[in-house]
Amino acid sequence: MSDVVVAIDGPAGTGKSSMSKRLAEALGARYLDTGGMYRMVTLAVLRAGIDPADADAVARIAESVQMSVDYHPEGDRYFLAGEDVSAEIRGDRVTGAVSAVSSVAAVRTRLVALQREMSQGPGNVVVEGRDIGTVVLPDAPVKIFLTASAETRARRRNDQNVAAGLPDDYDGVLADVHRRDHLDSTRTLSPLRPASDAVTVDTSDMTEAQVIDRLLELVKQRSEAVR
Ligand code: C5P
Repeated sequence: MSDVVVAIDGPAGTGKSSMSKRLAEALGARYLDTGGMYRMVTLAVLRAGIDPADADAVARIAESVQMSVDYHPEGDRYFLAGEDVSAEIRGDRVTGAVSAVSSVAAVRTRLVALQREMSQGPGNVVVEGRDIGTVVLPDAPVKIFLTASAETRARRRNDQNVAAGLPDDYDGVLADVHRRDHLDSTRTLSPLRPASDAVTVDTSDMTEAQVIDRLLELVKQRSEAVR
């Protein structure tokens, strides 16, 4: 198979990150998690004491912030001005502010340019986010949109939280899923939606193994079709 570029989009809690990582492993591909980059800018905004709703101030941070990502099979490391912030960017504070920060045009312009650069070959690459098939890599030969019902996504995320030692709060997690879905799909810039040529996979009633099999099948079909 020649080099394959796979764009995977979808809302939070569809199993998108773990599926994208496993797919990348199976394809011997690099893996790029664009959500982590929006989270890094958000952390920089919060650390600077800026209100995430203040678009001009957020834009100034986005233009100057220094960030990098190191790939590791056991978990990528995210660096903000040289400091490892991999754990902090997954915390509640960043999760609560990331939708506001990612709706600022200057943030998207800077990150989309970086993401295009980081997705360049050689070799296979799996890029995951919200707007990869629609904006970042509109020519990607394989585009997948992962979805699942809001309830399924909230249950999965709550189970992960509990396993990580956080409180059991299904209702709170479900409210957060609805809130972020709404913000991400109604924003003016790059709203979350499947590309017209994406294949939608609903993971609500699928095991991880079934999802991976389906994704591998799609990669095979689609990359054969475009060869
Ligand atoms: O994937 P993750 O949940 O880490 O993404 C965090 C947030 O970053 C999303 O809720 C969304 O607001 C934003 N995001 C985005 N575009 C992307 C990836 C993430 O706007 N390509």
